[in-house]
Amino acid sequence: MIYLDNAATTRPFDSVIQRMETFYKEAYFNPSALYAPAMRVEDELEKARDYINNVLGGGGKVFFTSCATESNTWVYHSARKNKKGNVVVSMGEHASGYENAQALLGQGIDVRFVRLTKSGAVDMADFMQKIDADTCLVSIIHCSNETGAVNDLRALSDAVKRVAPQALFHSDGVQALGKLPVHCCALGVDLYSVSAHKIGGAKGVGALWVRDGIRLQPLIVGGGQEQNTRSGTENVAGIVGFAEALRVFLQTDGKQIAMLRQNMQSALAGLENVTVHNAQENSPYILSFSVLGLKAEILQRKLAEQNILIGLGSACASRWKKNRVLAAMGYGMPHIEGNVRISFGANNLQDDMVYAQKTLIDTINALRTNIR
Ligand code: PLP
Repeated sequence: MIYLDNAATTRPFDSVIQRMETFYKEAYFNPSALYAPAMRVEDELEKARDYINNVLGGGGKVFFTSCATESNTWVYHSARKNKKGNVVVSMGEHASGYENAQALLGQGIDVRFVRLTKSGAVDMADFMQKIDADTCLVSIIHCSNETGAVNDLRALSDAVKRVAPQALFHSDGVQALGKLPVHCCALGVDLYSVSAHKIGGAKGVGALWVRDGIRLQPLIVGGGQEQNTRSGTENVAGIVGFAEALRVFLQTDGKQIAMLRQNMQSALAGLENVTVHNAQENSPYILSFSVLGLKAEILQRKLAEQNILIGLGSACASRWKKNRVLAAMGYGMPHIEGNVRISFGANNLQDDMVYAQKTLIDTINALRTNIR
């Protein structure tokens, strides 16, 4: 099987599974307990925290959560300082950001949605119109899970800090961690969400990086774990596995992945009526395109029958939500219905890609011939 839906999730690395097993079978103690074996578990937890913070450039603290959906939810519900002011969010957020923004809107909060350009990045001119001196929270996805478009966080954050110095700037970095250069302070972000399962870690482990000096209201209260900021016994195995996944992922050859994407894009260039959604800066890991005249689900099913698994926009999204991002880019139904996402990962091999490319092209041609 050739798995090309790595933006949905990834196969955990073997060393991650091995490392996690130790924390289930042997080092299973509660990291908050005070006896020596538990304190050793706590040490491992702290090492993972420090490592992830360092990879994110330092200057903040990592709080572990149950997933990036929780990290995003925490931000939307806690980061509105003094509960006053407006919230500015892009139309290209993952559902876990967008739906939380909608929830705030439902509570009567002034939430402003920023348009996307045709390439999928945030429309800077519209952004400038949406922010003002009363903006208290801005949330802009770093790399789109649907198109791979990368937003210029530094430029956006500079603009926010000029107009609303008190505002907190959050970014959803789930599709960027390990894949793009991420130095939170240099990017100008205050809060950054990440998830383990997109880079060879386990599902159900996330984190929120919080810049030094910022204190968020807890979303989950209880036993006071995570420095009284996020209660609940930590998923130690998952967290230690997250750090291991990041370590291994950072050793994978990003240039090789970029080449796989480029080759796939070149193969598509020979087809008529296919639109590749490329931003000025695009993730090398995601190739989004629309095959006009075809329904993406049918193409996905036909490829699955030939052992190739591809994605349709976001795996977390239902149909209409998936349409939201392309619609915000100004595309109509033919592009939306025919939109597929190929996302690469550390396990993809050049030899597999030759077969995948040929099968993709042949299948598109065959489906088109059938409906003529
Ligand atoms: N943000 C982005 C950009 C994602 O791609 C995803 C997962 O699809 C999430 C957030 C949610 O992550 P998790 O599955 O850890 O809740």
